[in-house]
Amino acid sequence: MKRTDRSRIKRLRYVTETLCLAQDYLETSMDTFDFDTETEQWGILGEAAEAIEKAQARLRFFCVSCNKDTSGGEYYTVSDELWAASGLGGNDGMLCLRCCEKRIGRELRPEDFTHIFPSAEVWEQHVAGRKPRSTR
Ligand SMILES: [Zn+2]
Repeated sequence: MKRTDRSRIKRLRYVTETLCLAQDYLETSMDTFDFDTETEQWGILGEAAEAIEKAQARLRFFCVSCNKDTSGGEYYTVSDELWAASGLGGNDGMLCLRCCEKRIGRELRPEDFTHIFPSAEVWEQHVAGRKPRSTR
């Protein structure tokens, strides 16, 4: 099984777990539903809505290329030019360090990071995990 497949399954499992949790809330109380007469749509309230919101927030931290969860210290920002070189727009999501390097065609350097840096631990692990031929 490819690494990407495993990550995709992990992501799917997470989505499913969250939906189950939301469903549990929905089944516990019909008060969680709210009909908006203006938009004529059913809305979800309370704990179910919170669970869904939390899940959506967390999913935003998954690498758009390989689905790796970047919320564990792998969240960072780079310059607009460098990010554009990755082929993603400003609101297109996250890339893990490995996928970002693959997309920009070179290794990331500490000076590439702008406002937010990956955690020191994640960065060290990432550098150590690079193929020997590419380290200098
Ligand atoms: Zn990735």
